[in-house]
Amino acid sequence: MKLAKRISQVKPSLTLAIAAKAKAMKADGIDVCSFSAGEPDFDTPAHIKAAAARALSEGKTKYGPVSGEPKLREVIANKLKYNNGLNYEAENVIITDGGKHSIFNLILALIEPGDEVIIPAPYWLSYPEMVTLAGGKPVVVSANSSTGYKITPEMLRQAISPKTKLFILNSPCNPTGVVYSPDEIQAIAQVVVEADILVVSDEIYERVLYDDAVHVSIGSLGEEIFQRTITSNGFSKAYSMTGWRIGYLAGPLDLIKATITIQSHSTSNVCTFIQHGAIAALEESQDCVEEMRQAFIKRRKMMLARLNNIPGLSCSRPDGAFYMFPDISKTGLKSMEFCMSLLEEYKVAIIPGIAFAADDNIRLSYATDMITIEKGLDRLEEFVKSRF
Ligand SMILES: *Cc1c(COP(=O)(O)O)cnc(C)c1O
Repeated sequence: MKLAKRISQVKPSLTLAIAAKAKAMKADGIDVCSFSAGEPDFDTPAHIKAAAARALSEGKTKYGPVSGEPKLREVIANKLKYNNGLNYEAENVIITDGGKHSIFNLILALIEPGDEVIIPAPYWLSYPEMVTLAGGKPVVVSANSSTGYKITPEMLRQAISPKTKLFILNSPCNPTGVVYSPDEIQAIAQVVVEADILVVSDEIYERVLYDDAVHVSIGSLGEEIFQRTITSNGFSKAYSMTGWRIGYLAGPLDLIKATITIQSHSTSNVCTFIQHGAIAALEESQDCVEEMRQAFIKRRKMMLARLNNIPGLSCSRPDGAFYMFPDISKTGLKSMEFCMSLLEEYKVAIIPGIAFAADDNIRLSYATDMITIEKGLDRLEEFVKSRF
């Protein structure tokens, strides 16, 4: 069949390919330790499920407004105002089918052929593919361990051309766990304002922070940057609601209206009753978020110590999210070979860094239980020792 050209320009997700292979091996009865999941391993908190179930039994099962339930948009606008210092009203918010869908909508509304979008690498693998699908050009700015996997304001400035429309900021970052400091965010904001481009801030991991790391929303740093900022967030990571498919986007009114038009011809409203679960997530107790974070803290500590004890691997300390991103360059293996051999011979599933434009690294999620982590790290250690 002759498919549209745009589809030949994008790759299916490598992350999902490894995860699928690990799943198939498990189904065959093989004892696989998986570090591949990009989702919290906890059940969705009971009060959130109860609110959605209540809405379902009350018959909240009809079409709703494309932009989302008015109450949820209002609750989100308040959250963004009081927690993030972002001066949005309910009309500046659209409810989407997840953080991924938020960014897809945004790019579809904003990017046309010839437009350049600056993406720091290592990146979340969907960003460049979304830009390509819209006909735009991803401009990848690579940061490695020498800059702590962060791009500098200077690197951003140098990547900007007359065609640059948008810069994608993801802090805390998937896959590196990097969190930009308030000063660094401020310096990046200055470059964005000076160049008069737009920035989308993907803040999906804002609640998953460690030690003294703090999250600053770039749009909160003054009126000039606020006007050029679009904020993307969702419920998947903070509230362990990955399968619910709900997120949101907030930004200038004309842009949000454009994304509502796109949704009106594609997905329409997000499932009505789950939006009531999301209202409960934001309005009721936040203890669940902290409980999950406490579990991540323990795992992170254990994993970091053990990974750095494996000769040939070096792992910097992630300040946020739930991933370790060790450097494997000393093993002499490229990331795909490393991960494929590890999975086939030692039954451990890890995502190769090449998926995130970082072939010297691998990504281990610690959104999995302590027993799997310990067993998996034992095997990883054996594997590296056998090769290096
Ligand atoms: C998980 C994730 C998202 C969005 O996930 P949804 O399940 O679509 O809400 C967005 N950005 C990054 C970097 C992520 O890791």
